[in-house]
Amino acid sequence: MKTISRRNFNRFLAGTGALAASGGLAMPAIAQARPRVVVIGGGFGGASTARYLRLLDANIDVTLVETSREFITCPFSNLVLGGMMEMKAITHGYDALRTKHGINVVHDTATAIDHAQKSVRLQGGSTLAYDRLVVSPGIDIRWNAIQRYDAAAAEKMPHAWRAGAQTTLLRSQLMAMPDGGTFIMVAPADPFRCPPGPYERASTIAHYLKSAKPRSKILILDAKDSFSKQGLFTEGWNKLYPGMIQWVSASNDGKVSAVDPETMTVETDFGVVHKGDVINVIPPQRAGQIAQAAGLADRSGWCPVNPVNFESRQQAGVYVIGDAAIAAPMPKSGFSANSQGKIVAAAIVAAFKGAAFTSPSYANTCYSIVGTDYGISIAAVYRVENNQMIAVQGAGGVSVANADANVRFQEARYAEGWYAAITQDVFG
Ligand SMILES: Cc1cc2nc3c(=O)[nH]c(=O)nc-3n(C[C@H](O)[C@H](O)[C@H](O)COP(=O)(O)OP(=O)(O)OC[C@H]3O[C@@H](n4cnc5c(N)ncnc54)[C@H](O)[C@@H]3O)c2cc1C
Repeated sequence: MKTISRRNFNRFLAGTGALAASGGLAMPAIAQARPRVVVIGGGFGGASTARYLRLLDANIDVTLVETSREFITCPFSNLVLGGMMEMKAITHGYDALRTKHGINVVHDTATAIDHAQKSVRLQGGSTLAYDRLVVSPGIDIRWNAIQRYDAAAAEKMPHAWRAGAQTTLLRSQLMAMPDGGTFIMVAPADPFRCPPGPYERASTIAHYLKSAKPRSKILILDAKDSFSKQGLFTEGWNKLYPGMIQWVSASNDGKVSAVDPETMTVETDFGVVHKGDVINVIPPQRAGQIAQAAGLADRSGWCPVNPVNFESRQQAGVYVIGDAAIAAPMPKSGFSANSQGKIVAAAIVAAFKGAAFTSPSYANTCYSIVGTDYGISIAAVYRVENNQMIAVQGAGGVSVANADANVRFQEARYAEGWYAAITQDVFG
């Protein structure tokens, strides 16, 4: 495994904008031989942090706690639903993190954090001590926030908002749906994991239905009045799937308040009942369970953090990143979680070395696939000003409207390149 030299670490910090103006690395703050970092959650945020910690300083003892032996990415899971990709292509193992990067990967579930003792208890019975803790558990579903939408209902009306068995279930339902059937998607209010995700999903499912069941319809019932990249999605739908997708905003009674899995119906705030052949409910969410149990979340269900280094505002020495953290205007995306993971790794290394750490910058790009050869994107750069995360004016933007087919074709290829690059960056 290659590590980054002291000089290159300074350069890395300078690149993130994170080294204090006073600069230089002071005396080590923690004198022990091998500082210990425990990372909970081996997804986009957690695995990135673990890997970058070891790249920045191979002396750090890093333990990554992850329930699953394989990680199935949500990014590109919509393509699996649309029959454009196989599940295998979005499944990643942890061997490289173990063997190439020397990370102690433990497949178990963290059940409690003892902040006073600085330890994490695992379901398997063992306890891990840490000097610094990073928590990146992703999301939990708020069961029953939509009446009757509980874990049993999700077996008939999948959310597929965590990739895996739910993705397979929704795909098999779509394959069994009759031509001329109605696919209903229930979309949530902000904030939620992956703002463009529901609309990319409507696109990839439309792609499948257009060739396999062309008389079918897609109805999106939304708890919002607008959505990410709306103009670009609508343009793509009109071009590729004319008349197939109907989107109903919250103001037009699109907000669903109850479901009935027996009758395969959903009911809106104003009592209108819609019946579907396949129903995908993307319910309200909150930070993953361990963040709730460990007192890291506030009443919103998400975790307040200091945007400079993502240290919890509720517990010193604990960093919360990824979807679980309150980082708006950064969206809850894999790209954001990866970007935050790198910054947190640098912040922890700086803390161990007794170096100051200020003014980082973060980035996000979200590609969406509207059709096999039709990609669109949104990108932004973020900095911290007055202790607030802000989007840098003039950096980033969205794909141009009414671009010719070649531009959309190229963006679809960039999306594939992005997926290959980020999964390599996260899982090694
Ligand atoms: C359909 C869809 C499409 C998407 N497409 C994109 C995209 O194109 N680009 C993009 O950037 N983002 C995309 N996203 C968003 C992206 O998936 C998330 O933002 C990202 O996964 C967040 O990273 P995370 O580390 O917070 O959580 P995750 O990646 O979900 O990782 C959390 C991990 O923690 C583990 N875990 C949780 N609790 C515990 C515990 N107590 N003990 C041990 N392990 C635990 C879980 O098993 C999980 O592996 C998409 C999301 C969806 C739903």
